Amino acid sequence: QAPTAHTILGHPDSLFVLFFTEMWERFSYYGMRALLVLFLISTTVKGGWGWTREEATTLYGWYTMLVYFTPILGGYLADRYLGTRRAVVLGGFIIAAGHVSLFLDTISSFYIGLGLVIAGTGLFKPNISAIVGQLYGKDNESSRDGGYTLFYMGVNAGAFFGISLCGYIGEKISWNYGFGLAGIFMILGALQFYFSQGIFGEIGGAPSKNAPALAEATPDDTPAHIIRDRLIAIGVFSFFTIFFWFAFEQAGGSMTIFAADYTDRTLVGTSGFVFKVVNSLMTLIPVAILSWLLVQLMRGSSRYVLSNALLVGALALIWALSLWMLGREFQMEQSEIPATWFGVLNSFFLVVLAPMFSKMWERHWNPSGPVKFGVGLVLLGLGFAALAYGAMGIPAGAKTAQVSMVFLCLAYLLHTMGELCLSPVGLSYISKLAPARLLGLMFGIWFLNAGIANKLAGFTGSYIDKISESYSMAVFFLIFTIIPAGAGLVLMAMNKWMLKKMHGVR
Ligand code: GLN
Repeated sequence: QAPTAHTILGHPDSLFVLFFTEMWERFSYYGMRALLVLFLISTTVKGGWGWTREEATTLYGWYTMLVYFTPILGGYLADRYLGTRRAVVLGGFIIAAGHVSLFLDTISSFYIGLGLVIAGTGLFKPNISAIVGQLYGKDNESSRDGGYTLFYMGVNAGAFFGISLCGYIGEKISWNYGFGLAGIFMILGALQFYFSQGIFGEIGGAPSKNAPALAEATPDDTPAHIIRDRLIAIGVFSFFTIFFWFAFEQAGGSMTIFAADYTDRTLVGTSGFVFKVVNSLMTLIPVAILSWLLVQLMRGSSRYVLSNALLVGALALIWALSLWMLGREFQMEQSEIPATWFGVLNSFFLVVLAPMFSKMWERHWNPSGPVKFGVGLVLLGLGFAALAYGAMGIPAGAKTAQVSMVFLCLAYLLHTMGELCLSPVGLSYISKLAPARLLGLMFGIWFLNAGIANKLAGFTGSYIDKISESYSMAVFFLIFTIIPAGAGLVLMAMNKWMLKKMHGVR
């Protein structure tokens, strides 16, 4: 349990240190990721490398796969030698060094930079996810799913600002400034975590043989057959998650193609005005939610003023930058939907919906893990059903570009709701089911499935053009309706069996 009695919104205040650290890390990850392909395919005149789309997406596929493969190593190193906290600090600074290297803008520094981000993420991502669970023990066990959901909101707050700011600055000003911005915030995040470590007490320290296993994970003296059953349950959750991320990333992929090909990105007159209003709300709402959180944080904890001050400064900077961007947009006669706009929809919906889901799991409706996972997969399928409906009547050979924006937004909304039922809940279940000694490693396995799914989606994605020539997109989307929804129903049917395997973990 956290050594401090401070709680904010019913959660230990240390959760919010993790929230903001993860927020800045994801800011850098998603911000850089949003630029990567655009940078590689843009012409040398525009400062890019002039690669073909296929070359660029291939590198992107490898990159996003490796980023989720290294956590298995990082988790293991933390379990064995480093402890989760030191791994997070080390990982954070390695990631930051990676972004600085990308900023330097030479061929070798670019590849070194990618390598450093991949290595650093391996240390950072599984271990910060593990610490969240370590904050919850017997007396606040019921808040764990909700806690992970709030943490996941931090993930997406970071993605939201990262994609919009780095994307904007990279595209409109200079690629390496976009990469550099990602680095600055990663350094801030790592420093913020480093200086706040006192708040964690014993939690996340280096492993030692004598230290008692933390109460929250499966203690190491649990009977072997229970440990084995729970590992099987982790395997089943991870397996079904591959279906989820595969379809989810596939949707992201087709939407990106959609955004790039969207013929009517220039909005004039009324539709331009409506877009500007929606766009400003989309900036202001997440900023308002986060500022409100920050105010709660300042009230609840006074011991870590230094890191909080850093945070306030950084947030104020972000706010100013967003407003400045908005101002520029408003001055223009027409507005153009930037390609990255579609990418932020998912994180926007997530930031807005996460507080509600967090409360729902705590107070109103909290079904078992397999049921939540199943619902998540079905919702993902329904999102594709919306796309299929929107694409009906579009003949083979035509592009997704003709699907109305209404269906795209609806799809993103359903996908985000599905994600909230599955992804943060999955993290929570890993932390409940994993043996204490193997906590980091188990998170590594959890992220491995995302790596596999990313690569799979990249593979099918590269066939989209061919598929859409012979089949209508509606058929393509329908297949992606059936696969996840079917998987979800199977998992729900396995509920009783899974509950047995989990031995009392709810
Ligand atoms: N949006 C999540 C994150 O970046 C997705 C991670 C995953 O498990 N695929 O944390």
